[in-house]
Amino acid sequence: MIVGHEDNLKQLKQWLNQGQLPQSLLVCGLKGIGKSLVVEELILQNFCQKISSSSLQNTPCHSCPSCLQIKSKQHPDVLWIAPQEKESDDGVVKTSAIKIEQIRQIQDVLQRYALGSKQFIVIENADEMTLQACNALLKSLEEPKKDCYFILTTSNSQRLLITIRSRCFKLVFKSLSASEIKSIFTQNGDFLETSEQEIERWIQMGGGSVDSVTKALQQQARIEPFWQILKTQDTIPFYKKVQIAGELAKNKEELPFIFMMLKAKLKHEFFANDSQADKSFYRDYLNRIDDAERSFERHLKPEFILETLLL
Ligand SMILES: [Zn+2]
Repeated sequence: MIVGHEDNLKQLKQWLNQGQLPQSLLVCGLKGIGKSLVVEELILQNFCQKISSSSLQNTPCHSCPSCLQIKSKQHPDVLWIAPQEKESDDGVVKTSAIKIEQIRQIQDVLQRYALGSKQFIVIENADEMTLQACNALLKSLEEPKKDCYFILTTSNSQRLLITIRSRCFKLVFKSLSASEIKSIFTQNGDFLETSEQEIERWIQMGGGSVDSVTKALQQQARIEPFWQILKTQDTIPFYKKVQIAGELAKNKEELPFIFMMLKAKLKHEFFANDSQADKSFYRDYLNRIDDAERSFERHLKPEFILETLLL
């Protein structure tokens, strides 16, 4: 279900109904705020078999054969291109670039007759295209086929070639508000055991993106042992500290995020505590994490950085 973005969705539907949808559209906004869901809703609106009049009040049914085909990315008039995701053994999801082979599929779609009145090409996270892929796409954007619509989404439009950006109409999506993000978590039933306060804190840190709040809540469990050591420094045996540092160091790419979370927790404790001794402890530790971040940027071994932080 879409949360927020009412104005943009209304605008898009209006363009669609009035035959004024830009042929190349660039949808920009933070990662994880629901841009692709809005794009999907627009396409559903176009193809849904239950929508008879062009009234804006009509919403797609999400259950007719056309809607189901679109939702499962199987509709012959809609091509979805996105970076491929791969989950490694330790559960970390990594994405790869959008390659030229994926962009070449566009030609197959363009060459066949549309079953319906329109064709859509969606490129999610378009800034992940390789240079070759960008150049191949440019050719299609330069010679647009009638009734074929390109919709690109990005959370970092500056990474896109200027020649692509300049050919697209830009539609900017706002970040979600704290109450909108909260309603998503309530609907999904995720993190039911997490306190309201905790969710709110991460919403503030996440800057209006559901993705970063989810990630923070998931990572929370991983930083918990680290946090316990930090709070009870002397009572934990040396070998245990080394073991925990080793565990955390396994996902090197997650370290900047872990540092960010530890800093957020420390800052929170700093302001929540009145005792000067506590305040100075948290302040010192914040400085140590700053040092750790610098070491990480200098490519020091992650195990070494974490052990230094814990010992
Ligand atoms: Zn439908």
